[in-house]
Amino acid sequence: MRYLSTRGLPGDPELGFWDILLEGLAPDGGLYLPSEYPRVGPARLAEWRSLLDEQGYAALAHSVLSLFIDGIPDEDLRGICERAYNGEVFSDPAIVPVTDLGDGMKLAHLSNGPTAAFKDMAMQLLGQLFEYELTRRGAELNILGATSGDTGSAAEYAMRGRHGVRVFMLTPAGRMTPFQQAQMFSIDDPAIVNIAVDGVFDDCQDLVKEVAGDLAFKERYSLGAVNSINWARLVAQVVYYVAAWLRVTTSDDQVVSFCVPSGNFGNICAGHVARMMGLPIRDLVLATNENNVLDEFFRTGVYRVRSSAETQATSSPSMDISKASNFERFVFDLLGRDGVRVRALFGDELARHGSFDLSETPEFATLREHYGFVSASSSHANRVATIAATWRRSGVLIDPHTADGVGVAVRFTEPGVPMVVLETALPVKFAATIVEAIGREPDRPAAFDGLEDLPRHVVDLPRDAGALKALIASVVDG
Ligand SMILES: *Cc1c(COP(=O)(O)O)cnc(C)c1O
Repeated sequence: MRYLSTRGLPGDPELGFWDILLEGLAPDGGLYLPSEYPRVGPARLAEWRSLLDEQGYAALAHSVLSLFIDGIPDEDLRGICERAYNGEVFSDPAIVPVTDLGDGMKLAHLSNGPTAAFKDMAMQLLGQLFEYELTRRGAELNILGATSGDTGSAAEYAMRGRHGVRVFMLTPAGRMTPFQQAQMFSIDDPAIVNIAVDGVFDDCQDLVKEVAGDLAFKERYSLGAVNSINWARLVAQVVYYVAAWLRVTTSDDQVVSFCVPSGNFGNICAGHVARMMGLPIRDLVLATNENNVLDEFFRTGVYRVRSSAETQATSSPSMDISKASNFERFVFDLLGRDGVRVRALFGDELARHGSFDLSETPEFATLREHYGFVSASSSHANRVATIAATWRRSGVLIDPHTADGVGVAVRFTEPGVPMVVLETALPVKFAATIVEAIGREPDRPAAFDGLEDLPRHVVDLPRDAGALKALIASVVDG
């Protein structure tokens, strides 16, 4: 399997999986995608069905991922999958169980990992892949990132204890929920450095950019990132679409729709890849919150990024985005994989006008028919009502992000086609909205008991790149 850039030109060299594993953007500013999607037919699906039944999720992951990853002994890739997906790391040995919500709706549970959000699904694999490759290269990596919640925490839990990897994670001081702070700051590991910056999330991101932009420093301290455009994160997510599809079907040509609470388009992009591979997916229902950049595109053909002033702070905060960083991958496929056109849209139009318009193109006219995408958005009132209604009807408590999915999915269910909503976090992370919806606190899984009482490991830092560099240097140089 070879990889190319969404902004590539004919004749550009294609890369292997291990060349792009530790990278973010391609040098031309594009995102990496396979040069073609592997195709799976009924025979392969039948094989996967028995694999999942008899050997479980890690074995399925090994088989799916081996279609995308070469350059590694088969047994090594199997070991990586077994270490990433097992009953010690995830609270349910099924890893991704699927439960019934009634009326043809199903819930695929992606939040049984250490940080109770679906980001663990990808990040746990990434931690194992990083360790494997860094050991092979005899190299080290210092991950520098900024987080307002789920991503940074999933990264820390995935990278802790991984040989050759340190994490420096910036958070806006006092601005995460108490649970989110406790989750990160309770990690007691010298290779995981929590940094509370006197500022907001954007300040943290600016600091990361400034420090990583000092190329001499970046090289000297082997700085890297784990951002949402990383291809390995995306491909890890393809596996749970296959697993969920297998768990709600009994024959190998049965179609299923998926509804995905979306922000940066990473989760649903994996669904798109699964559909392109031939997994029998009917609709990919994209749900946004009030920050409806993506819903607007799928309804109107206009993609318009928002300013930070236009980006609302909502009660499903992990979906509060101003632009969707993985969306370029889908547009590349939509436009017949024409890197020149993608470059003109994302490199020029977007930079110049903050938007582009595909509404008059034949590709947009046939988008639903060819790619299955439909969309809608949700509001605070919708999600509170959906949490309450789902609790009343099926006794299942869902978090506000998942509620955006369930509320939108209802509008697109069809008789005879199971609608699988992807659960993206556990309610315990967002207690305030749960209390508003059902009048009581969510139950706390035993794994998180007493989290807030543990000693906190966090360094306070002013908004200053020099101070951040000094901290990194002192930790790395010892
Ligand atoms: C990250 C996140 C999302 C959005 O996922 P994308 O891949 O960015 O579309 C939704 N819900 C939760 C809880 C998240 O952490």
